[in-house]
Amino acid sequence: MMPTFAFPRLTVLALACAAGCALSLTSGSVRAAEAPAETEPAASKSIRPTLSKPPQFFQRKGEQAKEPGKDSAKAPAKSEAQGVSMSELADLIDQKISEVAAKRAAAPVVKVTPPASRAKRPAAVKAPVDVALASQDPLQQRLLNGRDVDWAYSGATGPDAWGQLKPAYRLCMLGKRQSPIDIRDGLPVHLDPIQFDYRPTRFRVIDTGRTVEVKFDLGNSITVMGQRYELVAMHFHRPSEERVNGRAYPMSAHLLHKSPAGQHAVVAVLLDQGESQPLIQQVWNNLPLEKHQEQLAQAPMDPSQILPAQRAQYYTYMGSLTTPPCTENVLWMVMKQPVTVSIDQIDIFHRLYPMNARPVQPTSGRLIKEGL
Ligand SMILES: [Zn+2]
Repeated sequence: MMPTFAFPRLTVLALACAAGCALSLTSGSVRAAEAPAETEPAASKSIRPTLSKPPQFFQRKGEQAKEPGKDSAKAPAKSEAQGVSMSELADLIDQKISEVAAKRAAAPVVKVTPPASRAKRPAAVKAPVDVALASQDPLQQRLLNGRDVDWAYSGATGPDAWGQLKPAYRLCMLGKRQSPIDIRDGLPVHLDPIQFDYRPTRFRVIDTGRTVEVKFDLGNSITVMGQRYELVAMHFHRPSEERVNGRAYPMSAHLLHKSPAGQHAVVAVLLDQGESQPLIQQVWNNLPLEKHQEQLAQAPMDPSQILPAQRAQYYTYMGSLTTPPCTENVLWMVMKQPVTVSIDQIDIFHRLYPMNARPVQPTSGRLIKEGL
């Protein structure tokens, strides 16, 4: 949960400076109000010292009823010990009020939102989606009226709603062999190595609105268990969609292949933070300025650069595409050895897509093989 503090969104201010000079600020911030106070103790503490004032002066909504006695009993002594004069305090308050007033100048005044009305807040601010709330959402209403709706990674059209967005997406909801999964308890066996036949290839980069994708010209393939699959595209997720024994990595790369009969095979490479990765840099360097527009790179790319040194060891299982339409019967091969990418390279993707991973799906007794 991203900490969101109340004071930038203050809507009601009541200042009464009498014997104890009590100021109370009440928030109308949806996010702050929804975040249970006990989940953000560190965030609360980080604000208070900068204000040099008893905590109740800048309470978030969830805190008000929680520990008034405790705060009011301890805080004044602390304030006095820090030697904050009333004039300094007043300046701080004035400063905060000015900041808030500037930010809220163009916004309509909103009354304090009582706790009882929380359930009526828009479903778009909640994740995962509450289907009942989603049905009240305008997007869902349009969908129910037969209009097409784009899927997303959060909000009313997030992963929990994918299967309801259109009939073609029903497997996202009803499928029993969905991806990603938390890979654990695999059968330790000797797997046939994947034969990678990758070479420097002309490529285009596109920002799809949900990830950065590399489209390759024909000519790269893998052969596994006697079946040849042509490399079609590569894209990225943050964090990694697949987990290994519960662990997610900062990112992952999916290399999507297709057999002549149209069957999918995905090679997943876990991307961990460390040394920079030349291929990733090549992709980022060729990012188009506009979404949905392909940019042809001037130099070829060798897809084998994204593969780890130890290519013989991988996990494999049958799953699905991790995005709608969640097509099943996809052969997954998750390389056991992660590849490193630098923090700067992660940050670049993070600025575009801070979260584009589907939650893990039930394994439902599927067989997982773990190559030794
Ligand atoms: Zn993917």
